[in-house]
Amino acid sequence: MKTFDTLALDPILMKSLEHMKYNEPTPIQAQAIPLALEGRDIMGSAQTGTGKTAAFAIPLIQKLLSTPHGSALVLTPTRELGKQIMDIMHQLLGSKNPAKCPINTAFIIGGEPMGKQFAQLRRNPRLIVGTPGRINDHLERGTLKLKDTQFLVLDETDRMLDMGFSVQLDRIAEHLPTQRQTLMFSATLPKNIIKLSAKYLNNPERVSVGSTTSPVKNIKQDVLRVNDNTKYSELVRELGEREGSIIIFVKTKHGTERLAKRLNGEGFKSDAIHGDLKQGRRNRVIQNFRQQEYRILVATDVVARGLDIPHIEHVINYDLPQVPEDYIHRIGRTARAGAEGSALCLVTPQDQRKWQAIDFLMNPEDKPKFAGQGRDSKNRRGQGGAKGRRPFSKGKKPFSKREDGASKEGHKHYAKDKKPFVKREDGDSKEDTGSFSKRKKPFSNGKKPFSKNGKASPSKDNNSFSKGKKSFYGQKKKKMAA
Ligand code: AMP
Repeated sequence: MKTFDTLALDPILMKSLEHMKYNEPTPIQAQAIPLALEGRDIMGSAQTGTGKTAAFAIPLIQKLLSTPHGSALVLTPTRELGKQIMDIMHQLLGSKNPAKCPINTAFIIGGEPMGKQFAQLRRNPRLIVGTPGRINDHLERGTLKLKDTQFLVLDETDRMLDMGFSVQLDRIAEHLPTQRQTLMFSATLPKNIIKLSAKYLNNPERVSVGSTTSPVKNIKQDVLRVNDNTKYSELVRELGEREGSIIIFVKTKHGTERLAKRLNGEGFKSDAIHGDLKQGRRNRVIQNFRQQEYRILVATDVVARGLDIPHIEHVINYDLPQVPEDYIHRIGRTARAGAEGSALCLVTPQDQRKWQAIDFLMNPEDKPKFAGQGRDSKNRRGQGGAKGRRPFSKGKKPFSKREDGASKEGHKHYAKDKKPFVKREDGDSKEDTGSFSKRKKPFSNGKKPFSKNGKASPSKDNNSFSKGKKSFYGQKKKKMAA
């Protein structure tokens, strides 16, 4: 499928696609849309920024427009992602203004006034986009009925499970008819997702674009070795060298506000976002960033997934993520829809273990080396150095503090079949995805690395963090000694 013309879509959809300048389907759309239009269930995995939303939104809307009966439900983990999905749905329905759309819609997310949602639900919406908690709230109150749901989408399913929504999903499923079409998307496909798909999907088609454990190709990734004293000044220097919009990820909610304030003091127009902000404030922060009213967004992992702001050119990991997979999600905020982007990690000596976990995720086939041959060799398998620490060993349970003060069993997620619960920054519990059990191929983008000011590309061919390490580590040592 090379164009949308061959799909016999409703004229409303065709006009919207033209208006949105969606001239050709993206690979995930080319795979998923024809199958979904045939009525098949789909288990889809795609890299971030690949056009996944329209891959389910186009067949969903086609279905709603082709018959006056039935409704559709889209479940999404976060409010921000929900809002993006709702916006795309309205655009595909012909107007950004919901009142002008040919189908009534309801946006049912937590943190928003109930009254507004009651009013939307009274209008018998045929398309509902929402987060599991609030959807259940309405189901329990009887203000929402799902018995006519013919089309169900579970988006970012791994994230929903990470956030502890598995019970909520089961409760929602009790209200859904068994005769329905279900599309499930997940960035990663660990065992618990496969299990869930067996529960919710009927003989699904698998569609997949790219490796689910690798970021999009056109992101230039760099690492900068720092220490606690130099970290902030290095960040400021890096910001000074960059143009365009930047998202900086930090570990704690408080840290986002503190850093944004400090950067504003330096003349870098910044704002902060985290899970403790009221929804109205969160919306405004995102909206202002989207409209480029300020250049730098300092964020926790609350926006690590799904946020689609095409002008983000750089992602800076001021603090490394607690969970290695979040690295991929974080850097996926740049290089959207084929654009180019850059990602930089500031790594302190204390971050070594987290850094190795990310490195290991990106380069699962990188064999451990003997002491002195590679930067991670001494820590990886207890060979020399690092006092025999074995951060990848299954039995170890180092603790690291979460931003909400809860402690996390660090790296326990490497242990197959174990499912520890850890607190997320948004206060929800996290079920281990176990996604390390089946690692996919390392990413490859065939780009040349660059190295300046002590920065180094993760590898010679920019594909891996492992190759070309020696020179990189030599440079860092000099830097840290300086
Ligand atoms: P998503 O992965 O759904 O977040 O989409 C990433 C970006 O790709 C969004 O900015 C979409 O508007 C854009 N996009 C999705 N499908 C297409 C298409 N067929 N042609 C051009 N842009 C697209």
